[in-house]
Amino acid sequence: MRIKGFKLFLAAAVALMSSCGSHILFKDGKSDYSIVVAPDAPESEQYAATELRYWLKEVSGAELPITGLTGGVKGKRLVVGYNPIVEELVPDSERPGDRDDSFTWENHGGDILFWGGNKRGTLYSVYSFLEDELGCRWYSSKVSVAPKKSSWKFRKLFNHEEPGIIIRDNCVLDVRTNPDFSARLRNNFVKLPGKNPGETIPGTAEGYWGVHAMGSFISPAEFYHSHPEYFSYRDGKRLDSYSQLCLSNPEVLEICIERVKQVMRDNPDFLIYSMEQNDNQLFCECDECKALAEEYGGQSGLMLWFVNQVADAVKEEFPDKFIGTFAYQYTRHAPKNIIPRDNVVVRLCSIECCMLHGYDECNQNRSFLKDLQNWSSIAPHLYIWDYVTDFAQYNLPVANWKTIQPHIQDFRDNNAIGILEEGDYQTVSCELREMRSWLLSKLMWNPDADINALILDFTDGYYGAAGQYIRQYLDFEEKILLRHGIHADCYIISSDEMYTEEFIDEGRKIFAEAKAAVSSDPVLFDRVETAEMPLCFLEMEITPLKGMKTGADKLIRRVVEREGIDRMAEGAWAGGYVWSKDMLEKYEGIAREIEAASLMPAIETEIAGNGVSFTRYKGDFLTTTEMIVKGTMTDKGIKSEIGIDEEQVVDHFGYVFDTWLKVEKTGIHQFNITSDDGTVLFVDGREVLNLDGSHSASSGWAILNLEKGLHHLELRYFEDTDTQKLDIVLTDPDGHSGPIPNERLFVLDK
Ligand SMILES: [Zn+2]
Ligand SMILES: [Zn+2]
Repeated sequence: MRIKGFKLFLAAAVALMSSCGSHILFKDGKSDYSIVVAPDAPESEQYAATELRYWLKEVSGAELPITGLTGGVKGKRLVVGYNPIVEELVPDSERPGDRDDSFTWENHGGDILFWGGNKRGTLYSVYSFLEDELGCRWYSSKVSVAPKKSSWKFRKLFNHEEPGIIIRDNCVLDVRTNPDFSARLRNNFVKLPGKNPGETIPGTAEGYWGVHAMGSFISPAEFYHSHPEYFSYRDGKRLDSYSQLCLSNPEVLEICIERVKQVMRDNPDFLIYSMEQNDNQLFCECDECKALAEEYGGQSGLMLWFVNQVADAVKEEFPDKFIGTFAYQYTRHAPKNIIPRDNVVVRLCSIECCMLHGYDECNQNRSFLKDLQNWSSIAPHLYIWDYVTDFAQYNLPVANWKTIQPHIQDFRDNNAIGILEEGDYQTVSCELREMRSWLLSKLMWNPDADINALILDFTDGYYGAAGQYIRQYLDFEEKILLRHGIHADCYIISSDEMYTEEFIDEGRKIFAEAKAAVSSDPVLFDRVETAEMPLCFLEMEITPLKGMKTGADKLIRRVVEREGIDRMAEGAWAGGYVWSKDMLEKYEGIAREIEAASLMPAIETEIAGNGVSFTRYKGDFLTTTEMIVKGTMTDKGIKSEIGIDEEQVVDHFGYVFDTWLKVEKTGIHQFNITSDDGTVLFVDGREVLNLDGSHSASSGWAILNLEKGLHHLELRYFEDTDTQKLDIVLTDPDGHSGPIPNERLFVLDK
């Protein structure tokens, strides 16, 4: 099969006034109608008939019989699938292609006909009718809406739709693992549900086999010992760890062809098969690879030269299938002097892009747009791998509500045949995940849909009386997070400058109103609480003492337990926790420390003025103790603050900072320190925080019950090699946090 380019055509249902009378589909829980489906229709159309029956019953209370083509009474039939009845009643219609997802529903007299491609189109026709005419909604795998109606009648019905994007992969856990929900949102990457629970129908998905598959075809474990020359040549040697393949080596090509062919034979139920680079940038730099890269405009050209040969080799045996490759990181740019074969699908990845802006709106995105346009001009089948949430901390607020649409439109306008929208694919914890995922499905189907109408539909439908406050929060979030100069790729962390205490405070005020609006409805209340979790998460990350006062930690625990959230990040990218249990343990630790903190009395002493005494050392040491014992003192004096900002990027140095902190209010204080490499903090002569040793940026905190007055601080810090960092944040008993103000630090002698 060749994937045809579709042009979106969307005709809204038109209710033409007709001279004939209206037809009553159901009234008072009863219906004269039958659902008609050919007994030999594909399983997906049989499934469409059962879905139609199920949702009609939910709405009307009437259970319609399902019969064969000769069943039912003419004028009282819901005809499912393109069959002889449709051919007779709509003589100028054409049988749609099997994989064609476009569909039509229309009435002929009292009969309503639903038809489209027999893989999915007919089923989508049924869903579209249920949504548009009867008001059904599928907001998440757990939340469906079927408005109860006592009667429903019609005169003239017609709707025809075609998908804006041919392959629609909403890559979030809730969709990927729930075929019935996935189908209702018209995502076609997941197979349709089969007759029995847990089963799916073969052939009903536009499947993509594998990702980063090169490493599975040729692994160092299998081949390095006998053929080191199959792997990347870097810095004078062949790499024996997970890197890339030496693509110019003909044996590498031969093995990849043989193995992908075997995969295609063993797994025939896919459309596209991965021949994609591994997930790292260690491409081969041998002379042959270098020469080919030069000839074809860089690494993407070398990759395409290789993949085209694989595509040629599989074409005869698999004329309807595709070989997929990446335009990702070092292969993102389009090549020169070579174009992809007809049976090659190029997956272009937007991983470096800013999620907050259009592709022509910020510098981070303009080069991607250029790559998109360049690939579009040469690739017969361009596919996009797009990123729509934060992977470093899934739960962070991401204000990309108004950019997901122009991004999808850019993909459509550049002839993308498919989009993978990567969201919280491992968990169910991204911000407003149900709405984000629902919008993505709707927009992949129709990139020109009215986003504001969709948001209104979802917020009112899913959050009820709190819907208006959720919309207020979305506007507020955009206003605050989209301020000038702020950009966000998909690996933002909570310490990013875009997140401020004011944002959290104001946002939580809106949520207080939202919760009040649904306080009498526990189901809606829980949904609003889930929506508030990202703000609570930020509060616990940035101002944990305050978070404990406002109950942010308790809200997070309730949501985590209720939603079954196990994972908080894709990996340990942010140096934080990956698992929700570690997050909750941290919160418990804070609570225990607060409980246990005994009052540290203030110390009477004579101060001379503001400042921080410091001693600077140099030398090669692995702990702060070694620094003091072995280091060479290079400087000594008074600074205005505790910090290393004025240090150039040099290695092997350290500081001891000595100062008196003026505490303004007795109570629990929290010191948060992030350091690279080691630090140890002493307060009033007691070691309270130890992050000693040579390491990358690590964070820790100390919780202390300090009496109003002066307290002695000594902070020891050293830098071993590579990057360096020293950040100190103090949270006071009122929950305010930030760097320690210089005017609260004192020295005894000037
Ligand atoms: Zn090579
Ligand atoms: Zn930007």
